[in-house]
Amino acid sequence: MNIVIGSGPAGIGAALALLEQNLTVTILDSGEDLEAEKRLRISRMAQMEPEEWCQGDINNLKGSVSASVKGVSQKLAFGSDFPYRRPQEFKPANSSTIDLWSSFAKGGLTNVWGASLLPYHHRDIQDWPITIQDLESSYKKILSWIPMSSVEDDLLKDFPLYTQANVPLKPSWQATQWLRDLNESKSDLSKAGFTFGRSRLAVTTDSNTDSVGCKYCTLCMYGCPYESIYKTSITLDAIRKNKNLTYIPNIVVKNLKEENGKVIIQTRSRTGNKSRSFSAERVFVGSGVVPTAKIMLGSMKVFNEPVFVQDSQHFILPLVRYTRTKGVSEEKLFTLAQLFIEHFDESIDSHSTIFQAYTYNDFYTEALKNLLGPFFSLAKPILPLILGRLVILQGYLHSSLSGRAKLTLRHSYQNESENLMIEAVKNPITAKVVEKQGRLLWENRKYLKAFPLLPLNNLSKIGHGNHYGGTFPMKKKPGHLESDTLGRIKGWNRVHLVDSSTFTSIPPGPIVLSIMSNAYRIAKTSMLT
Ligand SMILES: Cc1cc2nc3c(=O)[nH]c(=O)nc-3n(C[C@H](O)[C@H](O)[C@H](O)COP(=O)(O)OP(=O)(O)OC[C@H]3O[C@@H](n4cnc5c(N)ncnc54)[C@H](O)[C@@H]3O)c2cc1C
Repeated sequence: MNIVIGSGPAGIGAALALLEQNLTVTILDSGEDLEAEKRLRISRMAQMEPEEWCQGDINNLKGSVSASVKGVSQKLAFGSDFPYRRPQEFKPANSSTIDLWSSFAKGGLTNVWGASLLPYHHRDIQDWPITIQDLESSYKKILSWIPMSSVEDDLLKDFPLYTQANVPLKPSWQATQWLRDLNESKSDLSKAGFTFGRSRLAVTTDSNTDSVGCKYCTLCMYGCPYESIYKTSITLDAIRKNKNLTYIPNIVVKNLKEENGKVIIQTRSRTGNKSRSFSAERVFVGSGVVPTAKIMLGSMKVFNEPVFVQDSQHFILPLVRYTRTKGVSEEKLFTLAQLFIEHFDESIDSHSTIFQAYTYNDFYTEALKNLLGPFFSLAKPILPLILGRLVILQGYLHSSLSGRAKLTLRHSYQNESENLMIEAVKNPITAKVVEKQGRLLWENRKYLKAFPLLPLNNLSKIGHGNHYGGTFPMKKKPGHLESDTLGRIKGWNRVHLVDSSTFTSIPPGPIVLSIMSNAYRIAKTSMLT
């Protein structure tokens, strides 16, 4: 029997590869889920058209999320924080300095993700012991399982689609007009290192017998009642029909041990604390970066010796377009990323920076309210003028330009507990790089037909962009606490880490497609060894 831990992108990527080879797979999952009352409410909404929803249901689905110019406090799923709820022993002991979000939910963090998809570019994984060619067939496989709204545009040059172009989402009016503006200056922008195109999103656009296409109800940031935004629990529910798959929720994996050609897995129930152990030929660990570090450091009894999480650090920069789009707050639109912009200029850095551009969503009004304080009521009459020009860019840097997080497992002999300490380790160059990116946008404002609000250029805390990993980096010749190309930490034979814990470095831009594809690659290849 093969055991996969987790039902997020990593666990599902690995399970797909094992099932494809007709192998038996058991997924052990902590499996938190949405509260029953909310589930009922959402399924009622899914039976109706958005115009038929009552305000009470909409308010309940939105919950209370606060927004500022630095972004949202914590994105919820249908007003619930269930994707982030953790068992006590997985809570960091010092969460005041930095807290990397991890998930113990069915579907993991894809319950709240932004659904942005992009493969990696070879220039950004030069230090990995595998190449883009090693990932290509897995990209194709994974994209045969998840919907992707995409078009064939200039991004193709650096980022192949690896699937047929799909019926794309209809961009917002503002994105359509800005794209037109950008296209007019395409050659100048290209000389300055900018390539742009429509966002690629894991969203169903066309209704069919199995799924409902996007209805442009504007609620993407809160949760899609129609499940048009992909989450890995959708694939899990589909593959549960396969007789080779067993899914066991409510299981929290504590530690692993290799013994006589088998792996012994010690667990407890999430609700109830009941111990149970499993035995497997091979284990694929996809519990997400922080839980995986806790499980593996604890299993190896590596105490007081830090490992480092590499981060693709994130910054938020508002842009003001030269022209205004009218009626943005009344438009029926999707509110995920509308455009992707890549910036690459070898004379500045050997890696690219990836921007995701967002046009209007209702967080903007609240962010402006918080920014302007008592002056907000004075600004109210001109609000449509501001909102019709405002675009928010979220930028992502390569990990070599970003800070890191130091994870240390401490053992208390007093009460036999193990506590994970997480500390931020800033990189002195990150703020300068982010400033430089802001200046570059300013210098190119004529071509962008938009200028950045540089005083609001905000470098987020380490980990806030949610693209991190590299705790046990893959190396051709792994050393202490490093892993081989099949995700095995030195000294382990049958335990494969399949989440981003083994990424050698973290490229800029969306990470999920590469997590799923790498997990698929590892699970498929490990069976051949
Ligand atoms: C708000 C937000 C927006 C994001 N937007 C994007 C985006 O647009 N594009 C993108 O590419 N990425 C995005 N990300 C990042 C992305 O969601 C994560 O990188 C990805 O989900 C990580 O996948 P994973 O499978 O490694 O871990 P997770 O998604 O965290 O899944 C972990 C799984 O393991 C299980 N588990 C954990 N510990 C245990 C244990 N001890 N025992 C048993 N089961 C366990 C959990 O139940 C869960 O099923 C976003 C993240 C957030 C928070």
